[in-house]
Amino acid sequence: MGRVEASVKTETEPGAAKVKIYSRAQHNISRSQISENALKVLYRLQGEGYEAYLVGGCVRDLLLGREPKDFDVVTNADPDQVRKVFRNCRLIGRRFRLAHVHFGREIIEVATFRGAGEEQNDNQVLNKEGRLLRDNVYGTIEEDVWRRDFTVNALYYNIRDFSVVDYVGGMTDHQTGTLKLIGDPDMRFREDPVRMLRAVRFAVKLGFKMDPDCEKAMHNDAPLLASIPSARLYDEMIKLFLSGYALQTFEMLRHYGLFQVLFPATETSLSTEENGFPRLLLIKALENSDNRIAEGKTVTAYFLLAAFLWEPVQMLAKQKMARGEIEFIAYQDAASEVISRQVKSTAMPRHISMAMREVWSLQPKFNACTGSKPSRLIGHPRFRAGYDFLLLRSETGTVEPELAEWWGKYQNANENEQRKMTQPPRNSAAKNSGRKRSYHRKAKSSTPNPES
Ligand code: ATP
Ligand code: MG
Repeated sequence: MGRVEASVKTETEPGAAKVKIYSRAQHNISRSQISENALKVLYRLQGEGYEAYLVGGCVRDLLLGREPKDFDVVTNADPDQVRKVFRNCRLIGRRFRLAHVHFGREIIEVATFRGAGEEQNDNQVLNKEGRLLRDNVYGTIEEDVWRRDFTVNALYYNIRDFSVVDYVGGMTDHQTGTLKLIGDPDMRFREDPVRMLRAVRFAVKLGFKMDPDCEKAMHNDAPLLASIPSARLYDEMIKLFLSGYALQTFEMLRHYGLFQVLFPATETSLSTEENGFPRLLLIKALENSDNRIAEGKTVTAYFLLAAFLWEPVQMLAKQKMARGEIEFIAYQDAASEVISRQVKSTAMPRHISMAMREVWSLQPKFNACTGSKPSRLIGHPRFRAGYDFLLLRSETGTVEPELAEWWGKYQNANENEQRKMTQPPRNSAAKNSGRKRSYHRKAKSSTPNPES
């Protein structure tokens, strides 16, 4: 694209921003890479006399030669006009009305150009920190562009002539791999602090470097993230950590002081060591999760969250035990308290917190390797997740690796072998000590209550 820069068409209409138009020959987006349904939507809108563009992440990803996650369309038709064009269309959203055009399982999102951001009016509401609460005014493409977050997210692919329309230098930033906010970074982060999380997500996902002004503003504005509703933060957090780049994301979030807003208790636990060992379980969990995604395997939110909050639960339970609470109750109470504090930052759905607790409460049950308990445990619906969690613990030295190995072998054994494996040791001395204790790592143990 660099070589054609000189011939890029620059247009300035009266009152409009300077625009660069990259013709079809000057960029690499081909219609064969665009979802057929997205093309149908674009052509239909155009056929009805409206302007229609692809915009946002899909244009960015197509330019990078990546397969977009979804295709977003933007138009000058208002939502009711869009609805009249498509039968298979539903209007959604309260903060900003959007049209969803349904094609079986694929949904093409069609937004109307948003209006100017400068002047406040009845349709746009800011809170005292400058955060945008409501924003529902329609406008033109020249206005819409300033509402977008990063220059590389603000490129429009025009179905009329297959050109890429660039008002903010997004194409150049694309070529240099720079993530740059449109406008003043501090103001843009104040308007919507979630943009800081998006900055981290895109920097990691695209391998782009952050623009220095954007970085500086992030360091200052990170605490503003605390004002975002916890349900929205949960959604963003999931996108961040189930991306396939969880470890890098985690490191970058910590670097900018954003992680502590999302997971305050985890941040505290990370700065403490146990018996001279840094708390590594979370790091391992993130690494494993990235490896699984790279291998095309699934990862679940509850498993990662169980890893995030494991150390805070351990620490709190130990404090409770030091105050005289019995182990079982201490762990139950600690789990409840840690979860109820966490949901103030990232409100997780109940089925997630339940599954997370199950993973935790299975851990002590893995200590019982004799009798009928192992065969019952293996039938538990969360056995696999519990076992994977046990592996993490064994990799980070908080349970004996032999215990994890035993369970690995036991799962794969036939019934006969399983029976042999679970027979109690013959002599009474061994019987008294039992496998249960022999696998217990004393010095560095963070093994929770023996609920079994
Ligand atoms: P992804 O690949 O994750 O879908 P995306 O850039 O498409 O990335 P979306 O959340 O789908 O992200 O948003 C689509 C577009 O809407 C963005 O590219 C951006 O132009 C704009 N946008 C989304 N969220 C914001 C925001 N918080 N502030 C400003 N613009 C935003
Ligand atoms: Mg998108």
